[in-house]
Amino acid sequence: MLGQMQNHPLLISRLIDHAARHHADSEVVSRRVEGDIHRYTWADVQKRAKQVANGLDALGVGLGERIGTLAWNGYRHLELYFGVSGSNRVLHTINPRLIPEQIAWIVNHAEDKVLCFDMSFLPIIQGIHAHCPNITHWIALCDADKLPADSGIPNLRSYEAWIGEQPNTYAWPVFDENTASSMCYTSGTTGHPKAALYSHRSTVLHAFAAALPDAMALSASDSALPVVPMFHVNAWGLPYSAAMVGCKLVFPGPALDGKSVFDLIEAEKVTFAAGVPTVWQMLLGYASSNNLRFSTLKRTVIGGSACPPAMIASFRDNYGVDVLHAWGMTEMSPLGTLCTLKEKHRHVSEEEKMKIRLKQGRAIFGVDMKIVSDDGAELPWDGKTYGDLYVKGPWILDTYYKNEGGYPLIDGWFPTGDVATIDADGFMQITDRSKDVIKSGGEWISSIDIENVAMAHPGVAMAACIGMPHPKWDERPIVAVVKKPDAQVTREELLAFYEGKVAKWQKPDDVVFVDAIPLGATGKMLKTRLREMLKDYKLPA
Ligand code: ADP
Repeated sequence: MLGQMQNHPLLISRLIDHAARHHADSEVVSRRVEGDIHRYTWADVQKRAKQVANGLDALGVGLGERIGTLAWNGYRHLELYFGVSGSNRVLHTINPRLIPEQIAWIVNHAEDKVLCFDMSFLPIIQGIHAHCPNITHWIALCDADKLPADSGIPNLRSYEAWIGEQPNTYAWPVFDENTASSMCYTSGTTGHPKAALYSHRSTVLHAFAAALPDAMALSASDSALPVVPMFHVNAWGLPYSAAMVGCKLVFPGPALDGKSVFDLIEAEKVTFAAGVPTVWQMLLGYASSNNLRFSTLKRTVIGGSACPPAMIASFRDNYGVDVLHAWGMTEMSPLGTLCTLKEKHRHVSEEEKMKIRLKQGRAIFGVDMKIVSDDGAELPWDGKTYGDLYVKGPWILDTYYKNEGGYPLIDGWFPTGDVATIDADGFMQITDRSKDVIKSGGEWISSIDIENVAMAHPGVAMAACIGMPHPKWDERPIVAVVKKPDAQVTREELLAFYEGKVAKWQKPDDVVFVDAIPLGATGKMLKTRLREMLKDYKLPA
């Protein structure tokens, strides 16, 4: 027997219609590439998203065609999120921090038809446009009078002139909720990047899940600041969840330094922010050296790479801000787990609570996870046994775009490439990426654990642990360290700092001071590059 409820497809256009109807005057505030602050409302977003949809019709862009964006977090990018997907085209957000050759490769692989870019990326476009034969229209996200006369880019037009000609009414089409809505390439540290192709259904379900109280707890009373880029896994789905709950949305544009982010948080009374640890490091550095406090910020989601314990403690103890540690990946839209405590933890000591908060957290409903051994056997949830982390759920990838790399699932589960433990309460903790874990004498050493100890030292700005070949133990860990400016810390002092914090055999064999740890396009440490940098390094005898 079938149920007898209405069958409405879960479409992204419904999110923007809801925001415009029920939260018409909630603000969307952006620091623009031009440097000034732009503010308008959810009602305006909807109108201009409809102009985008009409604009795409006028350009003759077919249904399902890919529209690339090379843009910071801002209101025009938000309009493209809803206008492109809402009109049944596919939004392809591109990471501008990739090298131009990779950007061109991705644009061609996705077969983008239109490319919209912030003016900061004009030099990239000037370098690649001749190598992207598929693109029929280049659109600069600026006013008509800001368009350079002699850019050399054929068919270049300004976004404002393009949508300005269009009516702001549009009947969003209704179609199968499994239709593709947006896509994002993984950073591809090995081989060519592969793309996750999200659907309307996966995006709307993810938006519901992300807003839950044990996830980001987003509500209409929030002022939310996604520092995590809209070009990286849809800013963790925040634009969609924000429209769903109708909160105020604040965009930092290109200004991600500590002072700019701090000023924006204060000026726009931000209550909730989300970003990767490297950005928060800059924010905390600025706040502490200027002795500043947040007046409205209450909680922040930190993920993308392991959040150092010292950062969680500093946010809480010095600033009264709760850190929600989160884990996910491009292939998971991206949210998998978030770390919020259970009722039974309310009365445990602060120290116990801290131990839990360091974990990557519990699965949100919709995500199922397990850890398995090398032979695929499921491992116990005891908080100690570690294994390969597998996931499944309706916003988790089934196959990559164009079937690149073959069929990735194993018995219906997506292998994440992460190694983790899960405790009896369901809290998952990432030990390492499987390719970063250090194998010493048949035992595994978590590079994250080794980095976390170094990061807790007051003289250390950044630390990365890698394994070095060893004749007897296979591999031994060493830690590459960037000192804080003016810090006097020595190798011996840092090695002694590990005493009592990790098991004796896990202690790194050496500390190597470096000027900088190489970072990838999404702000994560690039250990492949670090290994190349240290290829002539020899372990101390
Ligand atoms: P890419 O895989 O292209 O580097 P993703 O953003 O998809 O980019 O990265 C996902 C990976 O990032 C995860 O598989 C995991 O290794 C790492 N990661 C994400 N969040 C965390 C976290 N909170 N702690 C530790 N590692 C994390």
